[in-house]
Parts: sequence; structure tokens; C-alpha cells
Amino acid sequence: MSHKYVYMFEEGNANMRELLGGKGANLAEMTNIGLPVPYGFTITTEACTRYYEDGEKIADDIQAEILSYLDKLQAKAGKILGSRENPLLVSVRSGARASMPGMMDTILNLGMNDDVVEVVAEKTNNPRFAYDSYRRFIQMFSDVVMGLPKSTFEVIIDEMKEKKGVKLDTELDAEDMKEMVVRFKAYYKEKMGEDFPQDSKLQLMEAIKAVFRSWNNERAIFYRKMNDIPSSWGTAVNVQMMVFGNMGEDCGTGVAFTRNPATGEKKLFGEFLMNAQGEDVVAGVRTPMTIDQLAETSPKAYAKFVDICDKLENHYKDMQDMEFTVEHGELFMLQTRNGKRTGAAALKIACDMVDEGVITEKEAVLRVEPQQLDSLLHAQFDPAALKKAEVVTRGLAASPGAACGQIVFSAADAIEWKNEGKKVVLVRLETSPEDIEGMHVSEGVLTVRGGMTSHAAVVARGMGACCVSGAGEIVMGDKQFTVNGRTFKEGDWLSIDGSTGCVYGERIPTQPATISGNFERFMNWADENRVLKIRTNADTPKDAAQARAFGAEGIGLVRTEHMFFEAERIKAIREMIVSKTAEQRKAALAKLLPMQRGDFEGIYEAMQGNPVTIRYLDPPLHEFVPKEDKDIAELANEMNMSFEELKGICEGLHEFNPMMGHRGCRLAVTYPEIAEMQTQAVIEAAVNVQRRHPEWNVVAEIMIPLVGEVKELKFVKNIVVKTADEVLAKSDIKVEYHVGTMIEIPRAALLADEIAEEAEFFSFGTNDLTQMTFGFSRDDAGKFLGAYYDAKIYEQDPFAKLDQHGVGQLIKMAAEKGRSVRPNIKLGICGEHGGEPSSIEFCHKVGLTYVSCSPYRVPIARLAAAQAAIKNAK
Ligand code: ADP
Ligand code: MG
Ligand code: MG
Repeated sequence: MSHKYVYMFEEGNANMRELLGGKGANLAEMTNIGLPVPYGFTITTEACTRYYEDGEKIADDIQAEILSYLDKLQAKAGKILGSRENPLLVSVRSGARASMPGMMDTILNLGMNDDVVEVVAEKTNNPRFAYDSYRRFIQMFSDVVMGLPKSTFEVIIDEMKEKKGVKLDTELDAEDMKEMVVRFKAYYKEKMGEDFPQDSKLQLMEAIKAVFRSWNNERAIFYRKMNDIPSSWGTAVNVQMMVFGNMGEDCGTGVAFTRNPATGEKKLFGEFLMNAQGEDVVAGVRTPMTIDQLAETSPKAYAKFVDICDKLENHYKDMQDMEFTVEHGELFMLQTRNGKRTGAAALKIACDMVDEGVITEKEAVLRVEPQQLDSLLHAQFDPAALKKAEVVTRGLAASPGAACGQIVFSAADAIEWKNEGKKVVLVRLETSPEDIEGMHVSEGVLTVRGGMTSHAAVVARGMGACCVSGAGEIVMGDKQFTVNGRTFKEGDWLSIDGSTGCVYGERIPTQPATISGNFERFMNWADENRVLKIRTNADTPKDAAQARAFGAEGIGLVRTEHMFFEAERIKAIREMIVSKTAEQRKAALAKLLPMQRGDFEGIYEAMQGNPVTIRYLDPPLHEFVPKEDKDIAELANEMNMSFEELKGICEGLHEFNPMMGHRGCRLAVTYPEIAEMQTQAVIEAAVNVQRRHPEWNVVAEIMIPLVGEVKELKFVKNIVVKTADEVLAKSDIKVEYHVGTMIEIPRAALLADEIAEEAEFFSFGTNDLTQMTFGFSRDDAGKFLGAYYDAKIYEQDPFAKLDQHGVGQLIKMAAEKGRSVRPNIKLGICGEHGGEPSSIEFCHKVGLTYVSCSPYRVPIARLAAAQAAIKNAK
């Protein structure tokens, strides 16, 4: 038998969504459990793939198969497409594997033509209905198949309503509808240069092709990118006998959820519109009634609907989102799917369904999207105020939350205004490490440049602060900016939504997040099921404490340099960098020692005896070098140097490619004093905290960054061990310490077995590893990645989502090589990917010990790790 591309609804079931699409699979399932579904068949996603392979043509064999299934449908329906005695009308509906609501196209009332409309009018004794259906078909066919703009048809409708002095479609009568058909057809002919097609089989094939094509329309592509749906999947097409909600006042069409999708409340939630068809309910042509009101107008259909809702929920064991139509009081089901819901609703429904005995705790854990937890952890705008507010521009939803404050343009101003008790939103072209403190005191950060992994985005997510980045329409001026014709000055009010990327030029009140009891209960179920440990990336005691509160089991990355940007410290660091002798350098480092030790003590305290991995100084030195003449002059003065001499030294530190320059462990190789100072600070801090808390077991984990060669690691490790042992020899209290490394240079991954001879643990630094494996930097990739997405060369930002195909191989190999030498080696990941669900699943599969992510992503990572364990348990 040749390959099968078409299935009657009776032949399919809910498990066939890859082939039949979600809509088709569920129409089949509903048919088979005996629900009232109009007859139909599904053309598979494979047919869509072939359509593209065959050069955007439906091959003859598939056309023949479609027509033979049309015969079967006609036999069941007892009607024939295009017939003058007994015409069949059908809908042609898109439906991909993953639900993409409203992204692709659907055509209703296909089979209508100049003759059929007369027959329908006569048979139903309802000419208004017949002509209404025809004009809708012309409208949809013209739009979807021919690409004529919908709006022109709307203009014609409005003109007719105006002429008649009425407001609603329902007030137009049969004669009006007839005239509308004439005008629509005339417009079609004017634009297309030919008459509206009358051959219904031709209409059918053209409509099927158009649905295949709609897989690649702009909004579908955009939606796929946002939701990680591969472009290779394709859409199925459902051809289904029409039932009619537009035949009069005992007819109508509706959409409903079995539970409230915003709150999760267990109560039918939906809308219904009398004497209407298709998308009228959602399109807002008239105000629909609530589903409860249907009980009054059509009690029988309502009772049946309630019954079906129960049946469907029990059958799918999940909240359902349904589309249905009532024709002369008789109910027909047209779609069901697991309903989309807010984070709060997802949590409530999962917990309720466990209590109702419908699902197990494990199943409940799979019911909440990890990313959805985000919305539960951050402040939100007052919904009513938000609805009224006007969006002035959009950027990327870089770090969730809602922020409202007065505009400031520099970190220094942010701090000053905050000290005066004001709330501020920091607006910057882009942010740099010096802005951290200013970001910290701001309600939120808005940047003109930068992507999802720009400095501002990463830092804001780390702090759990709201951030909108890359709002490229903004034109920055001097202490003001303009956007879309409006000018905003310092002190003006601005509201930004880091969950949507929207920017509002006004004050919108915010409310704190509410975490209900369900949250804890649910997270406990997640924790019971996960294998991966969850750590956090935290550089301050405050962040560490926040992460603990969110359930972090340790710190996977303390970036020591983040502490060096504060005013006092940056001076000492600068002194250290420009020192000409080791003595000078040691003197500068001695100033830093007590500060570092204090930082580490604070972090150990916050982590309450849980493991803490401290990474040694990593960034290129040039980041610390003074650039402004006034800073250089000040430093020269303090160091007894001339301005010119110091300026020369600073210029000498220039690097062509700092990210591949003098940074990471190379700093410790050239200036061993740095590693000595940092070791002393780490070990003394650990000793002090251990002394204060004998009940804890403080273990120091020292991480050497950017290693590419075992001898390099050994060199630095020797310094660490020598210093640590000296400190411990003088101390009455002993603490355990371990020396490990980051795997973030491809060479380190390739030689991980050699490196494991020295390294007691690995932490995959996937930001640098991605950067160096792809050979492009994350700060510059934004400029061209867009073109790569358009050309379908890459579909994802590899800095946001781990490239499992390429970079993943290095991780897998390094993990295996590491374990081959040191079977119990601790393996972690501390790049941005450590908080991204699909990357976390990869880490689970590769058998890492833990993932480490920013504090606000800790709950997300806990859930993602649990889901990975449940999905991959066999
Ligand atoms: P979408 O995927 O955008 O929801 P659908 O294919 O579900 O598109 O079609 C939209 C609406 O059209 C349905 O909700 C339903 O109201 C109407 N519709 C589709 N097929 C039929 C049909 N055979 N009979 C009556 N109405 C239909
Ligand atoms: Mg639908
Ligand atoms: Mg790195």
C-alpha cells in the first residue's frame, strides 16, 4: 500500500498528534468517545512536509487520496460538495502538533457558490443565513487563499451598516447580505482580475494549500520562535462538515474552559454568542454572554455541554479549552485541547486535581511550565490600571517583574534619588559593570541596546530586578529620550513590564507577588522527584539569602570581581594593576584582603553551611583600568607617579580582544599574589564562620577559571594549596577545601581527563564555552543572529538555550573523561543555561551533580530538574 496521508476522524486518536496535529488528534479522540463532532477527515503533517518538498504543490497521489476521503465524508454526511440538490459545506482548518492559537488559518463554509447559496437559502428557508455564510466564505477565502486584506471587507460591511443606520451585523437582513455578496465579489474581481471561483473542488484544493502555506506566515514563524517549535514539523489540515451557529436565535458559537484559566478556580468559564459563526466570539463583533447565561437560553444544550466538559476533563485528566457550536439547540463539539493558563492557575489546578484524585503528584509536577513560576515570584502591575495604560514602545522581556518609577539616566543619579526616598527607573543606552549598584536601587532597568543575555539582562535576572532591554526605538539625548514622537525627561514617570517587554509612559501602580500555600506544597513534590541538586550564582550575602529562601542548596558560582567595582575597592584594584613591582602590588592587595574576607564570610553565613564555590578573579584587567583623565590623575597622585607615566601604563594595558586576552587564571599565572590574597581571604573566612557555627560543616570550594591546560591549573593550584595550608597551619580550626576548575575553553573539554588529575571538581562555564565553540561573542552576536534565524541556520540563541548538538558534545565528553579519572568528581554548570529548562534536562541526562542559576531562577530549576527526572525515568 502506498503511504497514507489522510485519516477519517474515526481512524485517529489523541496519541497521533505528530501526524494529525493537536486539533485533528483531539477531534478523532472526541469522535471515538462518542461526543457529537461533525464528520471529517485529517490530512497529515507529513502531507504538509511533502507539499514543501514537492515545491509548494500537492502531489497527484495525495490529491487523489484527499478526493477519495471527500467521497467517504460525502457518503457519511449524505451531502455532496457543490451539489445543486444537496450541497455539503465544509471547514478547512489548520492544526499543528503544538497548539498555536490563532497563528494559522481556517476557512469556513467552503463549497458555497452562486448556485449553492440559492439551494441553501431554499432548503433552510433562511436566505439571510445562506447569504451570510456565502459572504463569510468569500471574505475568508480571499484573505487566506488570495491574500486580499481583511480590512477592505470590513470597510464594506461598515459602509452598509452606516447606510442602513444600524450598529450590529445581526441587524442586517437577507437583502443586505445578498448585496454584500455582490459587493464582495465585485471587489474580488477588481483585485484578482477574475471571478470568484465557483468550482468547489478547486476551492477545496486551494484552501488546503493555503493552510499549508500559513505554516510559514510571519506570525506563525514568530510564535514558533518564541515557543521553540521546530519549523520542520508542518501543520495538518482538517476538512470537516459545517454545522451552523448563524441560523438564528436558537443557534450560536462559543469557547469555554473547564476551569478558570486565570485563577484555576474549578468553575466553567467561557463565552457564547447567539446567531454567530466561527471567530465572532473572540473577534469582539458583539459582546458575548457568559457561559452561565447559555443555561437560560438553551438549557438542553447547556446541560449536555456541562456533561461533556466533565467527560473531557476526566478523559484527558487536565483542564480543557473547547470550541463548540449550537445549531437549532443541538450541541456540536469542534475542538478541545489542554488549556493554556497562568502560572497561578497552573499551580492551583495541579494541586486541586491531586486532591480530586484525578492525577498523581508526579503527574502534577509535569503540569506546570517551569518558566511560569516566574510570574509568581515578582511584583505585578495592577491589572485594571494596566488595561488602561498605553504602550509607548516595546523591548525584550529580559527579566520579569513590574517596575514604576521616575526616570534617571545614570547609576549615580539612581543612587542619589533613591537616597532622597524616590523610586526610579534607570534608562541607559546599555549597562556596564559599573552600573550594578545603580541597577540595584532602581525599580527597574530599561536599555536601548542589548539582547536577552546582555549585561543588563543577566545582571537584572540575577538580582530578580525587572528589566526591559533592547528597546531600539528609543533615541537617547542629553538627560532625555524620545520615542514614537514623545519626549521623556529626567524625573518623568515610566512603567516597564519585564514579563512582556512593554514600556508605558505613565505611572501604573504595582502589587507584590502573592505566593499561596499551594506553591510550597507543589515545590515539595518537585524536590522529591529530582536527582540534580540546585545551586545558585550569587555574589552578595543578600542574593545568597534570597536564593536560600527559594531553595538553593549551595552556591555554584561566586564571582569575586563583582565586589571590586565599589568606589573604595576599585581604587585598590587599580593600584594593584598599575603596580610596577611585586611589593607595590602586594600592598594594594593587602587593602583588598579584609574586604574580600568580609564578603566571603557574609556569603558563608547566608548559605548556612551549604557548599560555596568561589571563582577567582576572571575578567580582563582592562575592565578595571581608569579611562577618564581625572581618575588617572587621582590615582597617579596616590601612587606617586606622574600623570603621563600612569597614562602610558594604562594605554599599555589595551587589548585587541579582551575576552580572549589577559584574564582568568592567566591573571594568577602572571600575578600569583592575586591568587595568594584570594586564597587567604577564602580560607580565613571559612575558618571564621566555622568557628562561629560549629554545627555547620563549612567546606571551601576554590574554582580556577579559564583553564585550558593541566599545567596551568597545576601552577595556580600549587599557589592555592601552599597559601591555604599556611593559613590552616596557623589556625586552631580546620576546614576542608577543594580546588577545581571551570570547563569553559574547548581545549579543557578535550583534555578533561588530564585536567581531572588535578581538578577535584568541574563546573561548566557554558557562557564562555558557547562563545568559544561558536567563535562569536555573546555581546556581538545580537547583530547577526537575526539573519541566521531568518535563514533558518540557527533557530535558537545558543547563549540562552544550550546548544546540545554542538556544545553539548563537549560537555558530555568532558563529563565522561573527568569521571574516567576521578569517578566521584563533582560536576556542575554555572552558565546562564543552568536556569533554562531544556538545558537542565540535558544536564540531568549527562549526569551532572548540580546546576547553578541566578536566585530567581532557583524554583524554576528545581521544577525543571524534577520534570527531567520524571520524563527520563524508565
Ligand atoms: P483556530 O485554530 O484559529 O481556533 P479553528 O480551525 O478552530 O481555528 O476554527 C475557528 C472556528 O471556526 C472554530 O472555533 C469554530 O467556531 C469554527 N468552525 C470551524 N470548523 C467548523 C465547522 N465544521 N462547523 C462550524 N464551525 C466551525
Ligand atoms: Mg480553534
Ligand atoms: Mg567564564
